[in-house]
Amino acid sequence: MASRLRRLGISTFGACAGATIAAWALNANNNYTVETASIAKPRVKRQLPPRSEQIQVLQSGEEYDVLVIGGGATGAGCALDAITRGLKTALVEADDFASGTSSRSTKLIHGGVRYLQTAILRADIEQYRMVKEALAERASMLHSAPHLTHPLPIMLPVYTWWQLPYYWVGIKCYDLVAGDRNVKSSYVLSKSNALELFPMLKGDKLCGAIVYYDGNFRFMPRFQHVLNASFLPVSGQQNDARMNLAIALTAARQGATICNHVEVLELLKKKDENGADKLCGAKVKDTITGKTWEVKAKCVINATGPFTDHIRKMDDPTVKTICCPSSGVHIVLPGYYSPQQMGLLDPSTSDGRVIFFLPWLNQTIAGTTDLPCDVTHNPKPTEDEIQFILTEIKNYLNSDVEVRRGDVLSAWSGIRPLVSDPNKEDTQSLARNHIVHVSPSGLVTIAGGKWTTYRAMAEHTLDAAIKACNLKPEKEECQTRDMKLEGSHGWTPTMYIRLVQDFGLDCEVARHLAESYGDRAFPVAKMASLTGKRWPIIGRKIHPEFPYIDAEVRYGVREYAMTAIDMIARRLRLAFLNVQAAQEALPAIVDIMAEELKWSKDEKERQIKMATEFLATEMGQIVNRASRDKIPINLSKEEIALYIKRFALIDKESKGYVSINDIRRGLKDIGVSLSGLDMHDILNELDLTYNGRLELSDYLQSFGEMDVSGEELHEILREIDTNMNGQVELDEYLQMMSAIKSGHVAYSRFARMAELEDEKHEAEKLKKKITVDRSGGGL
Ligand SMILES: Cc1cc2nc3c(=O)[nH]c(=O)nc-3n(C[C@H](O)[C@H](O)[C@H](O)COP(=O)(O)OP(=O)(O)OC[C@H]3O[C@@H](n4cnc5c(N)ncnc54)[C@H](O)[C@@H]3O)c2cc1C
Repeated sequence: MASRLRRLGISTFGACAGATIAAWALNANNNYTVETASIAKPRVKRQLPPRSEQIQVLQSGEEYDVLVIGGGATGAGCALDAITRGLKTALVEADDFASGTSSRSTKLIHGGVRYLQTAILRADIEQYRMVKEALAERASMLHSAPHLTHPLPIMLPVYTWWQLPYYWVGIKCYDLVAGDRNVKSSYVLSKSNALELFPMLKGDKLCGAIVYYDGNFRFMPRFQHVLNASFLPVSGQQNDARMNLAIALTAARQGATICNHVEVLELLKKKDENGADKLCGAKVKDTITGKTWEVKAKCVINATGPFTDHIRKMDDPTVKTICCPSSGVHIVLPGYYSPQQMGLLDPSTSDGRVIFFLPWLNQTIAGTTDLPCDVTHNPKPTEDEIQFILTEIKNYLNSDVEVRRGDVLSAWSGIRPLVSDPNKEDTQSLARNHIVHVSPSGLVTIAGGKWTTYRAMAEHTLDAAIKACNLKPEKEECQTRDMKLEGSHGWTPTMYIRLVQDFGLDCEVARHLAESYGDRAFPVAKMASLTGKRWPIIGRKIHPEFPYIDAEVRYGVREYAMTAIDMIARRLRLAFLNVQAAQEALPAIVDIMAEELKWSKDEKERQIKMATEFLATEMGQIVNRASRDKIPINLSKEEIALYIKRFALIDKESKGYVSINDIRRGLKDIGVSLSGLDMHDILNELDLTYNGRLELSDYLQSFGEMDVSGEELHEILREIDTNMNGQVELDEYLQMMSAIKSGHVAYSRFARMAELEDEKHEAEKLKKKITVDRSGGGL
């Protein structure tokens, strides 16, 4: 107890001191005053050149000042920094913008809570500076793309009484230091208030909660409020892939040659006046057409995230590796798992990691794990990682929110590009922040860091590049600090109302367009087709559950989407939000892209195949299916008899499997008529063998679990399987039966249809039994 109190005292003192230091430092940071922030740079009017034009320019043989390799957040940030200093700039991205780690983040714009704690308790000035930089960058990011980013209050549930005063003192110190700039400060909540704000939270043993909250922007400029909230771990949230794209498109509008699907194959060198090998460009390949050529550049920047060593070894095969990749998995759950305006942070999971649980684009994302991994372009989530997250979140959700494996709508993995610093002697320990390194041949490598600090990382990189490669920029100083990004110039929080009024768009769709494209939502809306309905007048949805419309697909091609994967994963975020919905929307998306990109029938099929593979492996569809296929099952004879009966009612010809025609007939029986596509969807729900027809075993597996031995099951199956010709597989049968009950399968329309069919059948039987005499008809 004494030691706890001592710890509490030290921590409290630390928090006070830290708050004071940080607030002082932030106040002293002239770079981020409200005055400078509000001076927006004039908007550049250049139209976005189509990709074909960008490729032509890249092939023209002209020498660039800067060639950036990698179109993630870091590379796009470098290209924007370089072009705005007046340097002739090109960027090549092997896949799509943000196809790497930059679309797979937790989507938080944050300063680093843990680093701050260490900075204060260990008086670590380096950590402190890092947090300070990230907090300043956070403010800059919220300012430069307000349509894509927003402040997010995060709740920290407290289950031990002594933690409440610990955090409370910290927060009050902060409020005190923030003074009159503090509009809406972070606060402590009682248990009942915490449960009111976050009703899904487990109430047992809860003492209260802390909410880090940053801002009511009604009366003051948005930017100042963000600054006010800077000390505590208040976070912003973003649409990471679209933010990445906005940076790249802004660079393109400023005059940079920005090309996705162009891979660097080799680095080119020539001798300088001293006879030393110096980089002078790169050999690149357009992965869409297969064409290769050379691009000349005075300076080459390596911004390839987890692939940093790959490029470093192209420069010098003997160089030591610096990247220590670690995979982080997130899962997406339905929106009802969390309140729409509040995130949750568990700072100490069972193995000491931080777990976030956040609302995002009307769903809930939870993550993340942190496991050593290999560097790959296609990281895949594993069942173990998904289970770890589900287990952790079960700990703080109340029993009404049953955490079901079947609720995982999608899951993805990203690779953290952690690096050791090659500038330092100790190459064993990982750098806490980003590193900038210039090789003897002049390759400028930027690695590490985080999304939040992409702009500062780019600034440091270009400062180093200008020096190392003797570049002559028009402007020596970095220009990006207050720069508004693509879509943010004319954006206002109520802009969507004009979209509704001027175009006749559905309100939810208008809001989504405004928040994804900012002021570019107007050109998107102009491309929307008529719905044919009284309301909304325009904007055909590409999936009924999401606000994405057909026009976005056409506009996405103008934003350099070249493949169906580019579209479902990064222009629209459907693949990340719901893998099944993405699969369902794919044919319609590919049809529109085919019109825009003149795809042949074969190319359309190839695109669907590639996108299907991507959804299956990288967005968690395969692990979702595999998880339900693994369920061990026990069934009672009564249950089996019931399900067999229902199955037989649908399989009218006793073929042993249910076909599309059977489903159509079954639905007609219960008064529903569906399109061919919907019919296929229903079949896909249960079709474990993916052979386009539903076998009895598939059907049976979608019901509950009971106690019966394997041998008895064999017996029953043999009895039942008289005319089924051995098509019932016991394993499949057992697994699916358990899936619904154990939560591995959330819903099944087929099961419901079978149930209704059964009810109807029973009702008809009863009708037949009621004779005219008994009904009183024979007076
Ligand atoms: C799970 C997870 C959660 C995270 N959450 C957050 C968070 O909430 N907040 C935050 O601030 N940070 C977060 N981060 C960190 C942040 O996402 C990364 O630091 C950042 O996205 C890295 O960007 P990058 O551009 O360096 O790398 P990447 O986004 O990976 O980009 C590198 C690009 O280089 C391209 N490339 C590779 N080789 C070549 C070649 N030969 N030719 C051309 N192009 C090539 C790749 O295709 C890739 O697109 C998170 C990271 C992970 C893994």
